[in-house]
Formats: sequence, C-alpha cells, structure tokens
Amino acid sequence: MCYKKSDSSFRKYFKKRFICFPLAFLTLCLFVKYSLKTENENDYNDSSPSKCLFCGIASGRITPPKLEFENDEYVIFKDIKPAATYHYLAIPKQHFDSLNVLNKSHVGLVERMQNGMIQFLASKDVDISKSVIGFHVPPFISQKHLHLHGISPVSEMSFSDRISFMIPSFWFKSANSAIESLQHADP
Ligand SMILES: [Zn+2]
Ligand SMILES: [Zn+2]
Repeated sequence: MCYKKSDSSFRKYFKKRFICFPLAFLTLCLFVKYSLKTENENDYNDSSPSKCLFCGIASGRITPPKLEFENDEYVIFKDIKPAATYHYLAIPKQHFDSLNVLNKSHVGLVERMQNGMIQFLASKDVDISKSVIGFHVPPFISQKHLHLHGISPVSEMSFSDRISFMIPSFWFKSANSAIESLQHADP
C-alpha cells in the first residue's frame, strides 16, 4: 500500500514537472523572441506617434502595406509575416502602446475593431469559426501600437505560430476576453 502511494505521488510529481518544463521553456523562448524583435525594431517601436511604424501606416504616410479597409477610427492591412492564408491586423488610428494602457472607456473601440475584423474576414469568405482573433499581451508584443490579429484558417498555422497565437494563454488574448477584462477595468 505504502509503496503504491508513494509511487503514484512520484508519478504525479513527474507528470507535473513534465508539463512545467516545456511550458517554462516555451515562455522563455517567446519572451526572448519578442524582446529581441522589439530591440531590433526600436527605431520604429518608439511610442511617440511621429516615429511609430503603425501610426505611419494608419495615417497612410508609410506604404506598403496597402490598406485593405479604412474608416475614421481604424485601418486593416495584411500582416507582413502571415501565419496563414488570411492574416490581417486591425490598428486604431490613435496611438495606444498596447492593451495595458486601455480602460473601460475603450470597450467600444475594441468591440468595433473586432466587429470590423470579423466583417472584413467574412467578406473574403473566411469561416470565422476556424479563425483566431485576438491581441498579444505585453511584453509579448512585436509592435508597440495596439493591433488586433485576425488569422485563418488555424489548420494552416505552423506549430510555433499556434503557440504564439494560443488561446487561452498569458501571452495572447482573444478579442472577447480583452473586451471582458476592459469591462471590469477602472474607468
Ligand atoms: Zn503608433
Ligand atoms: Zn501581435
């Protein structure tokens, strides 16, 4: 009996470690990947709107990429490194570093960006149920200007992209869960 008990707790311990190690390793890889990227792109990653790459794209000052959709509030364009056939970014014209600087008053903006992305993908006959729509969470952001990813189909994504855009994870949040957290944030 005694032996069996310790054997099963050892197994549990081993299982836990077996799960924890790859998770810790993946987290470290993602952290290194995004911090290196951020450093290399520092010139463009300045949070001052005049130097921000995405502010330049949103205002039409910087091309390519070509804007696929534009309204008063946000633009949509194709991701420079698509993770699947359809991979677009929706970015607000106003500069926000990331989800972290948003509050309750931005729920409407994020909802409109999400709806805009869904409508845009649907206009391309994309099956929304096979798509990923969400935000990276700091420090796992490649560009310091709020951007919503819309990717489809998930079946085409590589293993590393599936990890990078994994929902739920602490580095990537679905648009729905971002909206939910903002609804509970301070005004
Ligand atoms: Zn910007
Ligand atoms: Zn991202």
